[in-house]
This record gives sequence, structure tokens and C-alpha cells, in this order.
Amino acid sequence: MPTPFSQRQAVSTSWSGAATTKPPTSNSEWRCTRCDKLLGVCRDGRMHLRFARGHEYLVGFPVQATCRGCGTLNNATAPAR
Ligand SMILES: [Zn+2]
Repeated sequence: MPTPFSQRQAVSTSWSGAATTKPPTSNSEWRCTRCDKLLGVCRDGRMHLRFARGHEYLVGFPVQATCRGCGTLNNATAPAR
């Protein structure tokens, strides 16, 4: 009898090539435009920023933040949907 694994592998490989966009999440993530690092999460029309050592901020739009990974200044003018 044929193994079901061969079919599953064929499907997964065909999907991986076309999946360039990220799957939608429940919360709208704000990511660095250069290195794609997570900068904050948009909730209820405000941006939730989380920094090291437990510092968290809820800020309104527009919001600018420097990426911790690459130092790029990111700008979000409106809550993304
Ligand atoms: Zn970055």
C-alpha cells in the first residue's frame, strides 16, 4: 500500500516556494522593514512596544521606533489591518 508521507511531502514543497508573504496573525505585528525583527504589536488602534527588562509602552500613531537588531528607524503612520 502506498505511504501517505509521499503525498504530504509533495504538497509541502510546492507551498514553500510560493509562500513569500507571512500568514496573518490575530494581532497586527509591526516588523522592521530591513531585518523583519518584531518591533511591536498593534492592538485597539495603538501600538504596543516591548523593550528589554520589562519596559512596555502603548503609544498612539504615528509612531517611530529604532530596531534593536539593525538600528533602522521604522515609521508607522496608521494602525495596520
Ligand atoms: Zn531591523
